[in-house]
Amino acid sequence: MSVAISALGGLGEIGMNCMLLDSGSEAVIIDAGIMFPDDGMFGIDYVMPDFSVLNYVRERISGIFLTHGHDDHIGAVYYLLQAVNVPVYATRLTAELLKLRLEDQEPDLPYDIRVIERNAVVSLADFEFEAFPVCHSIPEGVGYIIRTGDGIIIHTGDFKIDDTPRDGVVTDLTRVSQVAREGITLLLSDSTNVENRGRTRSEKYVKDVLDSIIQEIPGRAIVSMFSSNITRLADTIESAAEAGRMVAVTGKSMEQNLAVARKLGYVKSERNDLFVDIENARKIDDDSLVVMTTGSQGEPLSALSLMARNQHRYVKVKESDTVIISSRFIPGNEKAIFRLIDNLCRRGADVIYQAISDVHVSGHGARKELELMIEAASPKYFVPIHGEYRHLVQHARVASRLNRTETIVVENGEVLVLENGSLRKEGSLAVGKVFVDGKGVGDVCEMVLRERRNLSRDGVVIAIVGYDSRKDKITYGPEMICLGVTDMVAGNGIIEGAKRLVEEMVLECAKAGSEETSSNIRRELKRYFNRQLERKPVIFPVMIDY
Ligand SMILES: [Zn+2]
Ligand SMILES: [Zn+2]
Repeated sequence: MSVAISALGGLGEIGMNCMLLDSGSEAVIIDAGIMFPDDGMFGIDYVMPDFSVLNYVRERISGIFLTHGHDDHIGAVYYLLQAVNVPVYATRLTAELLKLRLEDQEPDLPYDIRVIERNAVVSLADFEFEAFPVCHSIPEGVGYIIRTGDGIIIHTGDFKIDDTPRDGVVTDLTRVSQVAREGITLLLSDSTNVENRGRTRSEKYVKDVLDSIIQEIPGRAIVSMFSSNITRLADTIESAAEAGRMVAVTGKSMEQNLAVARKLGYVKSERNDLFVDIENARKIDDDSLVVMTTGSQGEPLSALSLMARNQHRYVKVKESDTVIISSRFIPGNEKAIFRLIDNLCRRGADVIYQAISDVHVSGHGARKELELMIEAASPKYFVPIHGEYRHLVQHARVASRLNRTETIVVENGEVLVLENGSLRKEGSLAVGKVFVDGKGVGDVCEMVLRERRNLSRDGVVIAIVGYDSRKDKITYGPEMICLGVTDMVAGNGIIEGAKRLVEEMVLECAKAGSEETSSNIRRELKRYFNRQLERKPVIFPVMIDY
């Protein structure tokens, strides 16, 4: 027997984590996440792995194992279940968050979610999955110890090694070292923060900083964070309760996640009179209120951005307010976040963010913690996961410096074969990405995106001309509609020049009996605009034969 291991996503990017283990007679999947679009993906809501690549193993997939409740791990489970409807194994919180996602997509979807403990053992025919607790920015995260006929694999999930975790459960390195005595063949480990030296600070540190800010400020506190950072969500409520303040929440995803966190008892000072609806928040004295909101990345339609532009219905930012942005600035979002902070400052608020105070720590371990994991597992082979390509390469270097571990860097689709305790690269799967745009799943492809990019960069020129072929005469136009091109086209003869060019092309093509008038117009206009403006708008000729 042998086990083929390949990633459908997550290797070479941060997001859409999904891994397939296939013994040839049985297959399992670990995580199925989405990725948020980057700057060039206009109009795309999110990206996920193309699950059609699973067609060849579909019949033998027996389960999906989830590591934790973040969208880059569970956001695509709904789509995966369309391809393979099999049991999903997840801890309680992960399961609740998944149910929210599934019911949001399709209220009556049948699913089989099996809630597991953080040290559960699930035996399937060819695999035995043993969960072990890992500490992260969301509670109830797990990694998996996977026993196969060809060796033991460890998949860490997302982790940090926090000695004072907020839920009291540390990353179980002890269990990892115990298993290491049996011999771990392969360690797959989170690479996100490999570029950071030392260790990531404890979440407790942020709690202390939040405590002191919320206690000391005289006015309202407006705290913004990722709604998926359930630990921080719960801690902010704790800080508010300890300071004798009430809490109002704004932002749909935050309200939903908070409801789950409360239901499962993650809000320790749970009392009904602790919360006030956002509509009634203005009735509460400023020094007795904490407003929690989404929008920490400067998303233009989020509650915090609306507040910064004075457009929020219930919260008007004023001079006595303190706004705390308790999250990392995701690369690519900096400009939007700085604009947000500027607008909040214009309203006179005191704005506190990571650069000026320690109001955020990462949920991923830095290099020292990654080393601790490698040392505890002392695996025969090491394969870095969950990272952009440079993270994977750095992490592999860390591992090979540490001990004699053999490291292999693979990207999405490359297949690793584990056979009799040895690992080799062999072949590849045709993995791909699917773009989700509103209700459309997969109807936007790379080519559509390229068109959107071109349109956004140089605009579009529509040239309309009516021509009566019997009379050999132009009967309409040429009319020229320019959208998003440049103001320079108006008033300095550029449009007139373009019209003359179209007229000449139409008459010339008619004389030559050419059938390709449209494509000739497109080509000539392209050259013309490039010459005149050094731009390449998308040219769209419309010929009407009258
Ligand atoms: Zn995560
Ligand atoms: Zn993740």
